[in-house]
Parts: sequence; structure tokens; C-alpha cells
Amino acid sequence: MPLPEHGLTKDEILTTLAAKRSRDARWQDGRTFGMVYDGGPSVHEVAEAVALLYLHENALNTRAFPSLGEIQSEVCASVAEMLHGGDTASGFMTSGGTESILMAVKSARERGRAERNITAPEMVLPASAHAAFHKAAHYFGLQVHKVPVRDDWRADVDAMASRVNDNTVLVVGSAPQYPQGVIDPIPELAALATSVGANFHTDACMGGFVLPFMEMLGYPVAPWDFRVEGVTTISADIHKLGYAPKGASVLMHRNKALRRYQTFVFDDWLGGFYASPAMQGTRPGLPMATAWAVMNHLGVDGYKRLTSVSIDTARRMAEGVRGIDGLQVLGEPEAQLVTIATAPGWEDRIDIFAVGDALQARGWFLDRQGPPDSLHSTVSAGNAPAIEDYLRDLRACVEAVAGNRTDDRSTNYATLE
Ligand SMILES: *Cc1c(COP(=O)(O)O)cnc(C)c1O
Repeated sequence: MPLPEHGLTKDEILTTLAAKRSRDARWQDGRTFGMVYDGGPSVHEVAEAVALLYLHENALNTRAFPSLGEIQSEVCASVAEMLHGGDTASGFMTSGGTESILMAVKSARERGRAERNITAPEMVLPASAHAAFHKAAHYFGLQVHKVPVRDDWRADVDAMASRVNDNTVLVVGSAPQYPQGVIDPIPELAALATSVGANFHTDACMGGFVLPFMEMLGYPVAPWDFRVEGVTTISADIHKLGYAPKGASVLMHRNKALRRYQTFVFDDWLGGFYASPAMQGTRPGLPMATAWAVMNHLGVDGYKRLTSVSIDTARRMAEGVRGIDGLQVLGEPEAQLVTIATAPGWEDRIDIFAVGDALQARGWFLDRQGPPDSLHSTVSAGNAPAIEDYLRDLRACVEAVAGNRTDDRSTNYATLE
């Protein structure tokens, strides 16, 4: 499609986009379990006003926009506090969980090279670790040891220990891991990394803005943050359960000395001193400012309220699913993630992907994932009003598709075009 010869008016633009959006997921109704996390009307109002203020700003150079430098340092200080990083933890904002993970892997590689002379770096991951770690290995030239998880879906410490060696620069665990929502045995994994002088990363992209508030609310939470010895980096996504618009995450290091392995500094070209914390050059101010705004608008009280609603809703979902013949919840999810699959013995009658298709036809959106074939839900506060409708539709869909199998076995966490 060529660019229009004569530009469209604002009204034409808005009408065209409204038509395009008509088939998009209806997250505003609480019917999408993932991808958009709705903090409610006051969060929208604040984020939208601040987005307009910062729509054009660029954090490439914080001498031009000192407010964005302050925003980054205040967001990181708040997150350091949430992660119990004491006086030493230090981080940078990134564009999302993937960029935080890319930087965690790159930092581990640099540290291995500088402190241990490692030229063929390796990392040890549970099979549940996010795809972004494999992307990082591909980008940055690390060898991956991917280790099967235990029956309860948690990382298998002994099996991972057998893959750790003198070239290991990074060991990874998640809090919680994405596929089944369980928290890996972080203290044991971090000790494993420490035993060879490697970094340990807790991937709290999902849990970073949930687990601290669950703990404050009195839920039991397995250890995962900087209170665990040996944890060197943690990723926490503000654009997930931090309820900020897309494009905001933090990578936090235990201290500034470790953070130095993240950054890139260069001045041997014709354009002058170039210092860069992460992958981007030009850095949109909008997601940084809206993240700051949503965090400060919600505060501890707001996050405790939203966390309580999310966890109640996730537990209601799990309980409802367990009450439907032919379905099971995988593992014992500890926070806001719930993954459902066909119950053992029902494989001939219930195809979970056919159930997913039937749900989608009724306006619900859950990711297909596997192995094993399953449907993933990230539950957040915005899903609360819809949860009873969901369970009713889920029960109806299971009955409607009984005996049917769909030929489409594809999964769809992320797409290209
Ligand atoms: C979402 C997620 C990521 C990746 O984050 P993006 O913001 O989608 O790039 C990494 N790890 C976990 C556990 C996640 O849930």
C-alpha cells in the first residue's frame, strides 16, 4: 500500500483505525487473560494525561530532558526498595522484560569475561525459563544448557547442578515462571551460581509487582529477591502487573559494580560521547513517564488492593477449573498465573485447544501453550468482574466441544507479522 498522495484528516485516521480495531481483543471487558493489565479508570486517566505530556520526549540524552533522568532514577529506587536491594541495588529502566533479560545475560557474559577470563560463556536454564533467555543466547553468543523441570514444574536443582561448569556465567530461575506460575527454588539455584562465581538472575517479570505486595498482605511467598544470597540481577516488568502502559521494565543489579557490566560507552566516532544503558538508542520518554506516574499514583496501598483482587480472582479461577470434569490446573500456581489442561484420563474426550477456540468464539482470549497442550491465563485485577462469566462459559465450552479435536495444534505466545 503506497503512502496516500494527500494525507488523511484526523477524522479519517480515527475512523480507519476504529474499523481496524474492531477485531482486537476486548481487554476492556476483562475477557483477555494476558497482554493488557487493567489497573482501572483512575490509572487510565493518569497514564493518558502523562502520555500526552511525554509523547514526544527522548531519554537518549538526559541533559536535554533531565526530568527523564530523575524519573528513571526514582522508578529504580522504588523498585530497589520493593526487591529489598538495600542501599546498594542499582538498575536501569528498559523497554520491557525481554530487554531486561537481554541485559542480564549480557551483564553476566561481560562479568565472566572480565573476572574469570571466560571466552566461551554458558548459561544454565530450567526448561520453563522465558524464551527471551534463548533470544539473548542467540544474540550474544552463549551456549544454553536447558534442563527439564520437576513434576511440580519447578526447576530441578540437582539436574541443573550437573550442567554448571567453569564456563557458566549465568544460572536462571523465575518468580514465578511463566508457563505454570510456580516459583523456582531460588536460594538453591543462586547458591549453585555462587559456587562457580557466576551471576544468578531471578526473572520476576511477572512477579516483581505482585510478590512484594502478596508478602505485605500476609500470603506465604517463597524467597526470591535480593534477601537471597547470590541473586545478582532481577527483572521486574512495570508494564505487566505494575499496570503501566507498554514499554516499561526494570533490570536491577545487586550493586553498582555489577551494573557496570550492563552499560556500553563509546566515543571513537565523529558524533561524540555515547553512553547507553541498554539496547535502545533513542528512548521514548512516554513509557518511562507513564510508568513513574502509575507507580506513584497507585502507591503501596493501590498495589496491595490490586494484588489482593488479582490473587482472589486467580484462586477463584483455579478453584472453578478444578470443579469442571475433564479439566485440570497444572501444578500449584502461587501467584496470578493459572494454566489449564485436559485432566488425566480425559484426553479422548476433551481437547484443550478446541476448548480455547470455543472460548475465543465467545470473546475470551487465552494463549495456547505447550508442551503439554494447555491454555495460559495471566490474571490481573481487570479480570475480576468477568470471572464468574468466564467460568460459566468455560464449563459450556467444555461440554460443547466434548469429543471434538481441532487439527490446529499451533501455539501462539508471540507472532511475527
Ligand atoms: C513477560 C515475561 C517476559 C518477557 O517480557 P516482555 O515484556 O514480554 O518482553 C519474561 N519473563 C517472564 C516470566 C515473563 O512473564
